[in-house]
Amino acid sequence: MSEAPDELEATEVDTPPVPDRYQGILFVISSPSGGGKGTLIKRLRETVPGVGYSVSWTTRAPRHGEAEGVNYHFASEAEFAVMIQAGGFVEWANVHGHHYGTTRAAVAQALSAGLDIILEIDVQGARAVRTTMESVVSIFILPPSFEVLRERLTRRMTERPEELELRLANARGEVAEYRHFDYLILNDEVERAAAQLASVVWAERARRERQEWVARRVLKSFGAPAAR
Ligand code: 5GP
Repeated sequence: MSEAPDELEATEVDTPPVPDRYQGILFVISSPSGGGKGTLIKRLRETVPGVGYSVSWTTRAPRHGEAEGVNYHFASEAEFAVMIQAGGFVEWANVHGHHYGTTRAAVAQALSAGLDIILEIDVQGARAVRTTMESVVSIFILPPSFEVLRERLTRRMTERPEELELRLANARGEVAEYRHFDYLILNDEVERAAAQLASVVWAERARRERQEWVARRVLKSFGAPAAR
């Protein structure tokens, strides 16, 4: 007997059903501290509709002007440890001596609302998300040079000198991680880099496999048999 029918059956069983509405994409964006990802993400959310943002939890102290629930949820080490124990995080990491984490609830909430979601997380977190979550698109924002990174970090005056030096030292290892990301955007000029980031989001949304539900709906009006 030919093996073809069995193969066909196996394919039918393995193929997940086509959803009947848009399924949000999980975008992971990383860069060394001072790489400019915050500015680019802000620009993206102002220009592209339907992009949600996951507010992380951290044990680092708020900076001047940062607000609870807006920039971060600020927690003590003890509170953060309880959340780890409870399995509340999709990922968490120790970055520059502080803990940072993304909650399952924040991700689930955005995706169930049909929004794309941005995780602005470090390279360790990006690695964890890539291995545990589906439909992840990862983007690395690269500063134009080490000198420019130092200049940006120094100019923004948010860190004490020793903290700044630690972030610059860690940047060397972080930039080497670019090769594990799907996209690389050079942040040498904000306007161009922001446009490129928006293009990535639009292009990922238009991927044929993410548009199957649209195709089905439209093809129905043609009376054409829906493609498998
Ligand atoms: P900052 O202290 O400058 O706000 O953030 C320091 C680093 O921690 C940045 O690289 C930032 O992207 C990262 N970070 C922020 N939130 C999270 C998170 O939820 N998980 C991980 N792994 N890193 C995060």
